[in-house]
Amino acid sequence: MTARTQVVLDTLYTENGTMLIYANRTWEYLEDRDFDGIMNPFIHEFLTSLDTTQSFDLPWNHDMCYTSNRSIDLTKLKDTLWTCVVDADFMDYAIPHPGRVTSRYGWRKGRYHNGIDIALNTGDTVVSAFDGKVRYAVYNEGGFGNLVIVRHYNGLETFYAHLNKHLVVPNQEVKAGEPIGLGGNTGRSFGAHLHFETRFYDAPMDPEIIFDFENQTLRSENLFIHRGLFRPGATASENLAGITSSSSANVPRYHTVRSGDTLSKIARKHNTSINALCRLNGIKPTTTLQIGKRLRVS
Ligand SMILES: [Zn+2]
Repeated sequence: MTARTQVVLDTLYTENGTMLIYANRTWEYLEDRDFDGIMNPFIHEFLTSLDTTQSFDLPWNHDMCYTSNRSIDLTKLKDTLWTCVVDADFMDYAIPHPGRVTSRYGWRKGRYHNGIDIALNTGDTVVSAFDGKVRYAVYNEGGFGNLVIVRHYNGLETFYAHLNKHLVVPNQEVKAGEPIGLGGNTGRSFGAHLHFETRFYDAPMDPEIIFDFENQTLRSENLFIHRGLFRPGATASENLAGITSSSSANVPRYHTVRSGDTLSKIARKHNTSINALCRLNGIKPTTTLQIGKRLRVS
């Protein structure tokens, strides 16, 4: 692994691969021809051994933001995978941008928000959360706008959306804290902000499980990957940005009952009615809701 400290002036796509032209007039090829997309073989093999019923592919794809792991359903994972988000060899992390969290992970106006939003001004620097390799850095038509995706050694991928400008190219290795783009308002975005996602094998999980954005720290070096982190139906085929329209309309959506929830509150939150909730879940308006129970909401 080499850290690129040079300023990249230009990128040339040649028959032999992508050439990076540096400001000091040197150049090098980006591609490692033998690279299969798996950053951490140990995590990959262990995960595969936990659940042999699913095929855990990790294509190294620069054209699609999701690597089409449609067959993988992490909500079916029976065991827990214990990973270190900052590994002994790559002992670092960074908060992508030190702004206020303006929108959290989870249901938002009847749609699932697969990441968090961080306030910034257009042109503010956005940095990579961990060491890794850039998989994707183009304008995304699905709503993300200018999007950078970095694949990391801890098994995660991080998404940085609505950027004004990319500062990296696919296959480029980055360090935690290294600038990957400038913040902006591109794609389906109303006001400059960073939409930041953390994904494991394409499935989104709450970035706040990993980071404490308020205190700008890591919550824990340990990340326990288990089915509870994931949401049924959060597959690669969905519109996962949570910011665009109708295409996810047929995907069942769920709500986990929390303390203080009532049917009317849940109905309001998910733009539905008490009757519809009762029909979908085979319950009555008078049924007592159990905390932790999952209700289908659409
Ligand atoms: Zn967002």
